Amino acid sequence: MELRLTDHVEALPGVGSARAKALAKLGLATIEDLLRYFPRDYEDRRRSSTISAAPPDAPVCIAALVAETPRCSYVRKGLELTKVRAVDGGGTLELTFFNQSYVRNALVPGESYVFYGVAEGTGSRRRMANPVFEREDHPRFTGRIMPIYPLTAGLSNGVLAGLVQRCVAACAQDVPEVLPQPVRQAHALAAAAFSYTNIHFPESEEALALARRRLIFEELFYLSCGLALLRTRREVQAGPVIPSQGLEDFSALLPFSLTAAQQRAIGEAAADLASGRSMNRLVQGDVGSGKTMVAAASCFLAWRAGWQSALMAPTELLAQQHFHTLTDTLSPAGVRVGLLTGSLRASEKKHLRAALSAGEIDLLVGTHALLSEGVAFARLGLVITDEQHRFGVAQRAALAAKGGGERALSPHVLVMSATPIPRTLALILYGDLDVSVIDQLPPGRTPVETFLVGEDKRQRLYGFVRKQVSLGRQVYIVCPAVEEAEPPLEHAMGLGRAVPAGGFADLKAVTAYARDLRERVFPDLRVGFVHGRMKPRDKEGAMAAFAAGALDVLVSTTVIEVGVDVPNASLIIIENADRFGLSQLHQLRGRVGRGAHQSYCVLVTANRNEETRARLKVLTQTTDGFRIAEEDLKLRGPGDFFGKRQHGLPQLHIADLAGDTGLLKEAQEAAKALLRSDPALEAPEHQPLKEQIRRLFTEQADSFN
Ligand code: ADP
Ligand code: MG
Repeated sequence: MELRLTDHVEALPGVGSARAKALAKLGLATIEDLLRYFPRDYEDRRRSSTISAAPPDAPVCIAALVAETPRCSYVRKGLELTKVRAVDGGGTLELTFFNQSYVRNALVPGESYVFYGVAEGTGSRRRMANPVFEREDHPRFTGRIMPIYPLTAGLSNGVLAGLVQRCVAACAQDVPEVLPQPVRQAHALAAAAFSYTNIHFPESEEALALARRRLIFEELFYLSCGLALLRTRREVQAGPVIPSQGLEDFSALLPFSLTAAQQRAIGEAAADLASGRSMNRLVQGDVGSGKTMVAAASCFLAWRAGWQSALMAPTELLAQQHFHTLTDTLSPAGVRVGLLTGSLRASEKKHLRAALSAGEIDLLVGTHALLSEGVAFARLGLVITDEQHRFGVAQRAALAAKGGGERALSPHVLVMSATPIPRTLALILYGDLDVSVIDQLPPGRTPVETFLVGEDKRQRLYGFVRKQVSLGRQVYIVCPAVEEAEPPLEHAMGLGRAVPAGGFADLKAVTAYARDLRERVFPDLRVGFVHGRMKPRDKEGAMAAFAAGALDVLVSTTVIEVGVDVPNASLIIIENADRFGLSQLHQLRGRVGRGAHQSYCVLVTANRNEETRARLKVLTQTTDGFRIAEEDLKLRGPGDFFGKRQHGLPQLHIADLAGDTGLLKEAQEAAKALLRSDPALEAPEHQPLKEQIRRLFTEQADSFN
């Protein structure tokens, strides 16, 4: 039967609708998908032995003849044993299978098979439990390096490996060679067919290493080319020329002096604004480092030059906060600031839109509502988005497209992010952006004191909550789940870690926890809660009540992670802290310590695992977000930084950006060299490559045009 790469998996013998469904759960729909589904590990099944010479503690392949009809017995309900003896010239192997009644018919007396497993015991009489086996004259999964795949319910590794093996045999030759020949030659990369064969069923360790090298390089090469293309495309875009003189006048508006780091970031943004090319800059700085001032300075310069600015925040509360800060800072100079959010009355919106298109508003702050139809600027020169993660490249582009009058000019774009990203990764993640780093906090901050405690301290912890409240302070309590016995949020988003053995039942859940606090622990305190499943209006309402001091304790999920500023909150308790990544915990901790009061962060975990505790301990030792991010990356890999939803970059299947830095450099250089010779990939031989990159970046395809 002919198989093609584009065929559906049901074209494979043995795949009906049930198996197709299981495969679909793994994202596998076509033959090509299966070929590109890489093993997560390998098992070396190449060692073989006779029965009597087999080691007692390591798996080997043993060829032996089945000497009798398999015997089945029921031990008890749900436990069925199948036993059979096999022999070779010098020994006997007693085989036992649990709940595998098919073995009775699969093993035929008088036939030879290869059994793979541990031959327990010593001498010539050995026992082997649940071995892998197959006929000696037709070996597929023994005597070789066997791939181990990530699995899903209803699909065993043997079945999946069998399917992949068919695909490899039928189609590995057909995988198109997308890497240009000179690149392959210069970097000594194996051919596509070889690589897709050996990544699944390697002939040897060397072959596997070659296959891996090529596939990892390939992935990083596409990524590098794609990002470089994005970069060159925008480098040629003309932006409004906004002179950078007059920054002293901006500084004069502030009640404090800017930190050196703020000044540097503002200087970099100002240079972009004046360059004539449209700015695409990321301002990265730890929570509380004062990123808003970079935005304010840029808006100030734009206003001076007669251009309007837009600032988009991910939530209504944050938008309001920015509106107030920017109004306080800039309106004394004459900047007219407006606020547009979803909750405005229709008439207010109409009024605002009219003022905007008439040029009577200089800076419009808002939520996604800024993107809605009918919002048109008279002369938009600068677009700012806060908290990068929540907005994709496409949304930034959509806002920038509201440019107004001068169509030939693209507005400047400034992105603010509080997620510290290790320098090694920043370039990739934000490859289409220039980066300014604010690596300094304003003076006079008292660092948040952080503690790691176990369940035994819970009563004392509640006492501490009371004490803070009696001092007039407020308290956040963060839980990993919304309702009981459900995966934590980041898990639901597909960004998470493995499901713990005991399920999620032991996780603190917002709703039940808040109820318990109200009824049992703090009946006299004002306890509210907020989570991502609430209606946006209820959510904003609870946050606003907390911000206004109408609640003492706010129980929440990580929805409070993003830049909300409640200076009176002095304590944050994070339950099941081991469920969160270090960078995320650091973000959460940033919710306190924003005022004059000494603030505290308490990480609660019942987890006694040494490694887990060591990981959490990092937070008690440092408040440097970049150091924490590096640590996080080392410990957990880049999953969190590269969770697909966070950035809209193509997902990596085999490359590991933290581990493969050597190859990453090589791939980046190769991409640079190729684009130097063919900047827009227009040569006919580069068309497959261009198509591949376009496919990978589909979410951002609009940016390629
Ligand atoms: P983030 O980087 O987290 O967005 P913000 O811009 O919200 O930080 O600033 C945090 C707080 O620090 C604000 O209350 C702001 O007014 C204050 N701030 C910013 N820059 C300075 C500075 N140079 N000196 C003192 N306080 C500052
Ligand atoms: Mg902020």
